[in-house]
Amino acid sequence: MKTFTLTHGFSLRTSKRASSSLVEAPRPDTVALLPGWIPYVKPRLLVKEGDAVKLGTPIFEDKRNPFVVFPSPGGGVVERIRFGPRRRIDEVVIRLDEIEPCETFASIPPSKIAETEADTFRHLLIKGGAWPLLRSLPFRDHPSVEENPYHIIVTLGLAGGHQARADIALAGEEEAFLNGLAILSRFSPRVHVIAPKKIGALSQKIESCLTARIRGSYPAGDPGHYLYRIRKSPEENRSWYIEAQDLVALARFVTSGCHHTKRVYAVGGNAVLKCRHVVSRLGAPVSLLGDGQAEGARHIGGTPFSGGYLPATGYMNLHHKGLTLLPPGDEEDTFGFLRGGYDRPSLSRTFFSVFNKRPLDLDCGFHGEERPCINCSRCATVCPVEILPQFIMKCMGAGEVEEALAHGLLDCIECGLCSYVCPSKIELLETLTQSKAQYRKERDG
Ligand code: SF4
Ligand code: SF4
Repeated sequence: MKTFTLTHGFSLRTSKRASSSLVEAPRPDTVALLPGWIPYVKPRLLVKEGDAVKLGTPIFEDKRNPFVVFPSPGGGVVERIRFGPRRRIDEVVIRLDEIEPCETFASIPPSKIAETEADTFRHLLIKGGAWPLLRSLPFRDHPSVEENPYHIIVTLGLAGGHQARADIALAGEEEAFLNGLAILSRFSPRVHVIAPKKIGALSQKIESCLTARIRGSYPAGDPGHYLYRIRKSPEENRSWYIEAQDLVALARFVTSGCHHTKRVYAVGGNAVLKCRHVVSRLGAPVSLLGDGQAEGARHIGGTPFSGGYLPATGYMNLHHKGLTLLPPGDEEDTFGFLRGGYDRPSLSRTFFSVFNKRPLDLDCGFHGEERPCINCSRCATVCPVEILPQFIMKCMGAGEVEEALAHGLLDCIECGLCSYVCPSKIELLETLTQSKAQYRKERDG
């Protein structure tokens, strides 16, 4: 096993991270799929309000490739389809039946995995709607159905404590995890299992599968960063990745023919009363996970750096493994300058918090508004893939896409650190993500 060090990156010294305690959330009445949250997908609905659906019934297909369908995360009735601006499908809510009906698909027993062709698995995953559990780099879309990957990277989470810890989430799932690795190895002989250095003790079976440990701050453990470190030729950019819990779900789907909905979420942040891990299910309501939350809390699905705002009545997305609840932070800070930022979490050494070694409270306050770039290079200092986000932003502003590519636009792993540390409050992550999407659109026509 190799050890890599992420020399850049940044972890918050926050006072409230998900502890290792694990509780089971009550069974939800409703679950949802959030098509608007899945990058690049152009959803075409296959159901309407009032339709009865089983766990695994296709809810929508991707217009770019109608073979790729997204299955219902539960069995019951489609209660609500919520549309956003320009008729974007934001949320498909399923009210669960007491006894959930379940679609069953063809299955392959664990003993037959090693002798089954990749195309058989491909067909099974596409037909059953488990294909979107796999994701491809650098765009983080689901892979094209004909694609064969060079590498496949299985990530056991990220440093920083914003996602469910693999030692907690995979307890009791070792066999399914190993079956998942055996399935992936039919697609590529180069399957890598990576984990951040600082996670709890993994079981012996999982520890023995590790290819690399990544030392360092957030986003150590990110598959895009790992690929950036190991690749030697442009051909290797054509790689896939999958998160450990999704791999377990994929393996259980293949071996049983039924969708596996159990998910463990890390719940933390300064607006949650109990920071812990919560066992629930795919598409669970956020209100069930952030139990005991403070008034007016903002819910962020994913990590606080790169995740997105979820309404308090919202649901967890297909790929979310963490929920952070933060106070809005929009109240007036009267005479706050007298404290000199002693309690303000920041990368900057211009605040007195540099002398404060205690964990600090985090909120959603912006502490200012967007201003022009001052070329301070803080964004480049934290960038884990050592690109210059400020130059890429300027290239894209000037329409110089080739120049942006030469500066490493496609290397961006969308960690969001550059936006967090920018003193001018420039939304670099949004700019870079949109630039990647724009480039891809122009490239693919
Ligand atoms: S440019 Fe991309 S990889 Fe670098 S810090 Fe910003 S979001 Fe992260
Ligand atoms: S951190 Fe912000 S202000 Fe500083 S160089 Fe980057 S974009 Fe410009």
